[in-house]
Amino acid sequence: MAEMCVGIDLGGTFIKFVATDRQGNASEILALPTPTDGGADGLVEQMAAGARKIIDTAGLSSEQVLGVGVGSPGPLDLKAGIVIASPNISGMVNVPLRDMVSDLLALPVALENDANAAAYGEYIAGAGKDADDLVVLTLGTGVGGGVVIGGEVLHGAHEIGAELGHMILVPDGEPCGCGQRGCVEQYCSAKFMADRTMARMTAEKPPTALRAIFDTKGSIDSKDINEARAGGDAFAAEVWDATARHLAMACVSLTRIFDPDKIVLTGGMAKAGSDLIDPVRAHFADLHWAMTEIKTEVAIADLGSDAGAIGAAGVAWHQFGS
Ligand SMILES: [Zn+2]
Repeated sequence: MAEMCVGIDLGGTFIKFVATDRQGNASEILALPTPTDGGADGLVEQMAAGARKIIDTAGLSSEQVLGVGVGSPGPLDLKAGIVIASPNISGMVNVPLRDMVSDLLALPVALENDANAAAYGEYIAGAGKDADDLVVLTLGTGVGGGVVIGGEVLHGAHEIGAELGHMILVPDGEPCGCGQRGCVEQYCSAKFMADRTMARMTAEKPPTALRAIFDTKGSIDSKDINEARAGGDAFAAEVWDATARHLAMACVSLTRIFDPDKIVLTGGMAKAGSDLIDPVRAHFADLHWAMTEIKTEVAIADLGSDAGAIGAAGVAWHQFGS
């Protein structure tokens, strides 16, 4: 009898669902809108409804489902299964999410931080599936991350480990929403690259093709910057390369701490593929110490935005599969 675990990735816009087998083979992803007006109860009902649909579509009886993994934005109290707060999802303050989902589905539920779940997804079924030790950096509006060492997700002593976007990269640098200055997030996220570029365009008035885009759209994003760079725009090329260099710096520090097999980049900015990874690799080689050859590979993720749901199912396998 085939056994499956269900993974749920709770996002601010969509909730994604998947079923995976023991080897990490995944069903098609189901995405349902994240309810915005029903509070925690409405949210949990939507999560249960999606999980039931995934189980039905896969033709599984509930006895064949070993458990459910949930990846949630946090901070979380993992031991108690509680979402302490989740700023982008309404009604999520001190919600005992693990037990609420478990009660509705009558299945055991494992709760994990969403960035850790995504890292675990890449580890079991994506770009990290041949790695023992993996670091994942998520480059979106902010910068998140996850670390898997010897098959275990790193949580730290206080369950706030692997906040890779808030390593300090530049002493006394740009202020960060977290209260520190100079965080990786302030130099490597898509949002901050765009914001910094627009600020420099106002202050320095460089000649750049980005100005016409800004005048039309009222803003620019990291994709615009990369396209201008590819079209030969010197200012856009400088901005893009500075971001790649900061990312490479973060990767060198992560290599010194974890000595991982791989560092995988994911999130919106990683969609640039070789346009991003090639300069990051070049700077990584340049900045890496000379005492040993480079053994850590920096690569683009495989699973994209499906990693969170697949990883959440993997977390359930890890907890309930033996
Ligand atoms: Zn920070």
